[in-house]
Amino acid sequence: MAARVGIPSSLFYYVHFPMWQTFFSELGVEVVTSGQTTKGLLDQGVREALADACVPIKLFFGHVISLKDSADYLFIPRIVCLNRKTIYCPKFLGLPDMIRHGLTGMPPIIDVQMDSRQGFASLWKSYLKIGRIFGLGKGRIFMAYLKAYMVARRFQSLMRSGLHPPEAMAVLSGKENIADPVDYNGDLTFAVLGYPYEVHDQFISVGLVKKLKKMGIRVITIENLSPRKISRANILDKNMFWTFSDLALNAAYYLFKEGGVDGIIHLTAFGCGPDSMVDKFMEISSRDYPEIPFMSVTIDEHTGDAGISTRLEAFVDMVKRRKEVKNNSCPR
Ligand code: SF4
Repeated sequence: MAARVGIPSSLFYYVHFPMWQTFFSELGVEVVTSGQTTKGLLDQGVREALADACVPIKLFFGHVISLKDSADYLFIPRIVCLNRKTIYCPKFLGLPDMIRHGLTGMPPIIDVQMDSRQGFASLWKSYLKIGRIFGLGKGRIFMAYLKAYMVARRFQSLMRSGLHPPEAMAVLSGKENIADPVDYNGDLTFAVLGYPYEVHDQFISVGLVKKLKKMGIRVITIENLSPRKISRANILDKNMFWTFSDLALNAAYYLFKEGGVDGIIHLTAFGCGPDSMVDKFMEISSRDYPEIPFMSVTIDEHTGDAGISTRLEAFVDMVKRRKEVKNNSCPR
């Protein structure tokens, strides 16, 4: 029977799952995931994780626990750096240790380190180590890595074409397009900025993207933007240290400067250290661009649907009114 590797549907899932799934499948290893977030998963994570952890980490604990009996291994790599520039938030760096020491009776963890600053072939070497765990030869592992890399490229290009990660994953797996039926009337475009594991997790984001789409608004997220353009938009003297934070902040700088959106919403997690800076920087920058309204929405494990919906509706109404006034005052 093929070994089963459990990949929690949380955190890096929204960035790397298609690549990881392809890699393991090509090695003949079965992949099991923890599925969509539910209240039960979150509650379990909240009970087991450190009380002062951010909500995405608590949720990750819940996803890991749900894989306890269905996987032979848990895949929780220690991803330090993938772009030779910025590193991931310290919580990511300590993820395998937090799970190993915070939960008992879990399957063994595959926790290879991935750090592209260690040299040209460092990522390949990490994947080689993973393949060796299953007793496979270098040639087979290399072919699996190559195929996985190609899938990752296709995933990126689908997202650049406008799909959000869950939609792009559905396309890759040959499922029907699960894109929400968009009632997009072409009037308003919003950017929802934030970490992929918040923005695209229907449960902890309280379906924020879906709600906007239902209101007829076109929604773009960081994944739809070119990383090169985003990175050039940085106005600080140096990069933010943390990869996801750097992307989110530079995406805001890019959109404020280039326009093309009628409003920007920053989705931020309560208890997130980096966000306390990112959100403030965004807010300060937004003052220079009053024509693009900015709103920040904080989520935590107690976030309720009604509160978010009310804020969103008020924000959308305000943006619509401003646009109408602007259109009516423009000479034809
Ligand atoms: S960046 Fe923030 S939300 Fe993400 S894991 Fe780190 S502390 Fe948590």
